[in-house]
Amino acid sequence: MKLIQILPFARTLLETAITPGDIAVDATLGNGHDTLFLAKLVGEYGHVYGFDIQEEAVINSRKRLEEQDLLSQVTFFNKGHEHISNCLPNEQHGKVTAAIFNLGYLPGGDKSIVTKPDTTISAIEQLLSIMKPEGIIVLVIYHGHPEGAIERDRLMEFVQSIDQKKAHVLQYRYLNQANHPPFIIAIEKR
Ligand code: SAM
Repeated sequence: MKLIQILPFARTLLETAITPGDIAVDATLGNGHDTLFLAKLVGEYGHVYGFDIQEEAVINSRKRLEEQDLLSQVTFFNKGHEHISNCLPNEQHGKVTAAIFNLGYLPGGDKSIVTKPDTTISAIEQLLSIMKPEGIIVLVIYHGHPEGAIERDRLMEFVQSIDQKKAHVLQYRYLNQANHPPFIIAIEKR
């Protein structure tokens, strides 16, 4: 298959958005796979801010970064991404060039703890105000579980209402695959 799959496409978008020295956000740390990817992209002069409401996720992510000797490039918050504006130092406002949200539940963790539409939308709104123009927000939407379908519907309504003068909004989605595979919404600030 030559078409780019969903998760590789999310990473391609992050690679497009980030150059070494940049500031990036992992809005859902989970097991830290995206955090590690972002830390490598921003490099030693850049920085990643990571958020998760579960301590287990912060511990797992910290461990993953420590194993690769990249801990100094990441600040971890055991807090919801709805606190992004307050948590990012003022001097970083206006400098964020990329953010990723891998929505849903922690793989291998408690499936009842999931991302919620109100807090996800609040975080996106905050990012749109503190990102650099041409900064990209990547949402990977998992809608195969009941709350995921509700979150998908709320997010689709929200992103389609974003003023096109403020941001470009893209959907990348396979239309004929079984079992509700994840899909991507990318938002580029103008
Ligand atoms: N990107 C992760 C990785 O690479 O392993 C996977 C993320 S997982 C699909 C979703 C995560 O979002 C869970 O760890 C969950 O605890 C977290 N989460 C749920 N609500 C959140 C919130 N309001 N703010 C930040 N993280 C949240």
